[in-house]
Amino acid sequence: LAGRGFRPEGTVVRFKNGVSVGGNEVVVMAGPCSVEGREQIALAAAQVKAAGAKFLRGGAFKPRSSPYSFQGMGLEGLKLLRDVGDASGLLIISEVMEISQIELMLPYVDCFQVGARNMQNFNLLRELGLVRKPVLLKRGIAATIEEVLLSAEYILSGGNYDLMLCERGIRTFETYTRNTMDISAIPVIKKLSHLPILGDPSHGVGLRDKVPAMARAAVAAGADGLLIEVHPNPDKAFSDGAQSLFPEQFEELMASLRLISSAV
Ligand code: PEP
Ligand code: MN
Repeated sequence: LAGRGFRPEGTVVRFKNGVSVGGNEVVVMAGPCSVEGREQIALAAAQVKAAGAKFLRGGAFKPRSSPYSFQGMGLEGLKLLRDVGDASGLLIISEVMEISQIELMLPYVDCFQVGARNMQNFNLLRELGLVRKPVLLKRGIAATIEEVLLSAEYILSGGNYDLMLCERGIRTFETYTRNTMDISAIPVIKKLSHLPILGDPSHGVGLRDKVPAMARAAVAAGADGLLIEVHPNPDKAFSDGAQSLFPEQFEELMASLRLISSAV
């Protein structure tokens, strides 16, 4: 079902506000790694909206490497996302970590994000296949493209065709960057599958000053959209501050993306 042959013309995932992914636009989803409070998320929303983002991202449930790190605001964070999203006209995307969170999240998000660590949580994927709300499936940290497409199959086979994939970097022998952003995965997935493919340069490189170059590379390679971490005050971020863009950097990035593609 994920193969290009199933839908040669390509999948377009439609959202409210007339936004669609996989059609003629390059859709940018931006915001902080984590929702930290009303003031922070409201400010982030205003900043990314002004620069041209269509989605506000922000984790309420956070998959942290250490159990002692900030784990997210949970339901409170989801409510804040919905509030500021509605107020600013942004769509909402947030990560779902387990089956029990699906029901809880439904009223608050426009799109479920499946994180890299859950790409092969097959029970979660199966359950998301039964939901009638779009899903963004991120590539696992050590997953091959074939494995990404097989994971997509779990969601599609449940009847949920509103699915998008996301390249977010993979683990290689290189340690300079947090992950190695596999730009080539974008044209490969475009060829193999009809599903829209986004790029996440923030997790892809993990270093703020390298994010714009990789964002441009992803768009030049044909990405249908981008997921980018932006924080009103990255140095004070509860998570992923080092890879979060300052709002001014994000605005500059958006302008430079428009030179590469008129679809941004
Ligand atoms: C995130 O988007 O903040 C995140 C945790 O991403 P990933 O699952 O790609 O690590
Ligand atoms: Mn993050």
